[in-house]
Amino acid sequence: MSKDSHRRKKVQICSTSPGYPVYCPKCNSTNVLIFYDPRFTPRLQSRWDDLIDEKRILLENRWEKIKDENRWGKLEKGSEKPNWICKDCYDGGIVVEQPIDKKISDEFKKCEKEFTEKSEPLYWDKCGEKVTLKQIHGESNIGDNSLALIAVTRQQCNTDNFAKYREYIKNTLAKNTLYYGLWYNTDNGKVEYDILYSIENNLQEIQKHLNLHNQINNGVTQKMALIIDKDGSWKIQSNESYSQTTSNSLGGI
Ligand SMILES: [Zn+2]
Repeated sequence: MSKDSHRRKKVQICSTSPGYPVYCPKCNSTNVLIFYDPRFTPRLQSRWDDLIDEKRILLENRWEKIKDENRWGKLEKGSEKPNWICKDCYDGGIVVEQPIDKKISDEFKKCEKEFTEKSEPLYWDKCGEKVTLKQIHGESNIGDNSLALIAVTRQQCNTDNFAKYREYIKNTLAKNTLYYGLWYNTDNGKVEYDILYSIENNLQEIQKHLNLHNQINNGVTQKMALIIDKDGSWKIQSNESYSQTTSNSLGGI
């Protein structure tokens, strides 16, 4: 027995099951196993477990992309990636991170094509998975009360500044909810990209929050909030100071 095969025998491969279908890029089978090499930095493994949970991964099998990976002696510390193997076609490779903005952007572009002024707004959760308003309400654990969704973005048509808005919700507003939305703005005939968070449905709170985000939006205030009932039905709550400013400025003309 050679020294190498002896060593291989002792090695324990740590594999993980994502809990949702992951498709082999070669044969489209879902019989795919993701695993960590024993030399994988344990600290990094939990980060990858999170990315896998959040469906933020892509399976890579192109040789030019994977040829430098798994050369464990030469790898830069911290840059290692999990591996995958398809149990049907025996193709395999590495798992790479799918940036959230790319995922959202792809989803938006797909849905945007069929959007008209009659389209209902669409929503995605923080992992870029589509959610219904009823699901958003359910996640908020507020029972029978209704919920308010407030956008921090204004008239945005790309994902360029999404990182800035996400940070703002988390750090400045200290809110732990985050949703992505696509809706048709009938005012200008454009499909807009939104980042939103939820608060309790309280008129005073809603008005306060609608006027909180002017600074991050070049002084432009939020126009409305979306009120969601527990059955998923919704209505618009306008920003009182927005209509006031508008009529004031109109009156000034
Ligand atoms: Zn396969």
